[in-house]
Amino acid sequence: PGMNTIVDQPGALHVLEHVFGYAGFRGQQEAVVEHVAGGGDALVLMPTGGGKSLCFQIPALLREGTAIVVSPLIALMHDQVSALVEAGVSAAFLNSSLDIETARTVERDLHEGRLDLLYVAPERLMTPRFLDQLDHLRDTRQLALFAIDEAHCVSQWGHDFRPEYLQLSILPERYPSIPRIALTATADRQTREEIRTRLRLEDAREFISSFDRPNIRYTITEKQDARRQLLSFIREECLGEAGIVYCLSRRKVEDTANWLCEHGINALPYHAGMSSEQRAEHQTRFLREDGIVMVATIAFGMGIDKPDVRFVAHIDLPRSIEGYYQETGRAGRDGLPAQAWMAWGAQDVVQQRRMIDESEASEQFKRLARNRLDVLVGLVEATTCRRQHLLAYFSEQAEPCGNCDNCLSPPQTWDATEAARKALSCVYRTGQRYGAGHLIDVLRGELTEKVVERAHEQLSTFGIGAELDEKRWRTVFRQLVARELLAVDHERYNALTLTEHARPLLRGEAEFMLRVESERSRSRGKRRSA
Ligand code: ADP
Ligand code: ZN
Repeated sequence: PGMNTIVDQPGALHVLEHVFGYAGFRGQQEAVVEHVAGGGDALVLMPTGGGKSLCFQIPALLREGTAIVVSPLIALMHDQVSALVEAGVSAAFLNSSLDIETARTVERDLHEGRLDLLYVAPERLMTPRFLDQLDHLRDTRQLALFAIDEAHCVSQWGHDFRPEYLQLSILPERYPSIPRIALTATADRQTREEIRTRLRLEDAREFISSFDRPNIRYTITEKQDARRQLLSFIREECLGEAGIVYCLSRRKVEDTANWLCEHGINALPYHAGMSSEQRAEHQTRFLREDGIVMVATIAFGMGIDKPDVRFVAHIDLPRSIEGYYQETGRAGRDGLPAQAWMAWGAQDVVQQRRMIDESEASEQFKRLARNRLDVLVGLVEATTCRRQHLLAYFSEQAEPCGNCDNCLSPPQTWDATEAARKALSCVYRTGQRYGAGHLIDVLRGELTEKVVERAHEQLSTFGIGAELDEKRWRTVFRQLVARELLAVDHERYNALTLTEHARPLLRGEAEFMLRVESERSRSRGKRRSA
């Protein structure tokens, strides 16, 4: 590898300045460019907006021949190629959006060595017709490198799994001397390992950038009336700024966008159920006009390069920490202060757990999905620095950041260990058959009809929790469910049952701390909506 190009730094820097118009490399870019231009394989982990594209675009220009860029997203290909062409680079793409004639022209340009970069969808790459063309390029020494963008699509356990990515493992067999660079912003250890093994990049050099986005302020709050909380957040902190609001369902996207408009916010909906013309129109307005708030499902955002998005809000729990990081990462790409704001409720957690349980997926998949959810719950419930939690997920250590809700106003906590233990033993004593309402009556020593009927006033747990009011008890039960010490049996009227995670607490080996804040914000939410 690398026989046809000797890289010198001025070459790379020259291209950076004169083709792309930038004064200097960022972070790891220079090291990656040098390594790949010199013929080495690389695995590049860089957060969204970190500047991954230049890591293969510059080597593509420095090396002889055409660089083949595998990308799963048609919109992204289109944008990158347009930007390259504008910069005077000979680039093109091949995907299902092209008519036959245009595709033929691109193929001819490729064959005749006129392209510096060709973006191609993975399923297209694997066709015999295309592989033949690659063979020709290889035989004429016109194959510069392979770049595999969004390499996490190879992970079978990820959200973005693309079966065609698995076939990319034939590249090193068929073109052993051509350097390959895989890039992703998804960097948990497991995905990293999957990329290495499945793409046969065991020996590739790894370039990991910090995932910290210091200009983003993280705030995660408990949901009372999410829409009103969102409105206050926008009005108080980001009025007139561009932002993205993520919701889980199309319906909620529509409702929220309408509602925000009624309240004077310039909001537009975006989801996969809308016509493509309408989606394109809203996207263009979001990019071109100032201060548009896009209310969207996660269908929106991949490959959107808008540097001045000032906030990203979630009014539903994201799918995972990974998702949260990607989505919030769309804020503040210009490096100026930006906000990531989320309202979540224990109910979201219960609902997502239920969806996992009831899905048709394999046990292994469900287990992973549950773990993923648990990690996310850990983040939203954290009473210490959010950024530390977030970065820990990417195996990065950090000091408390001073730019998240928990750093800026450390939450007050109260020791609910005793209360939680009482609640758990009440669940146990009543036979794991009742919902929170009845359990709270028993704990508080209420002689309700149901209590008397079941003779629960005879239990040792009857009346042992009179010191807390019902609202507090609700919080305790909700958190016990959210942290999975209790499970909800939906088949039996939402009866609460103990899980194995309850054991350490019952044995006195764990403590159970709760935020005081959650109750304060609840009453605030009530007042507002009244
Ligand atoms: P990623 O693919 O990692 O999300 P991109 O490659 O799209 O990131 O780059 C994000 C933004 O940063 C783009 O607008 C790009 O032009 C800009 N950028 C990348 N590298 C540099 C650099 N060295 N100097 C200035 N801007 C850069
Ligand atoms: Zn912090």
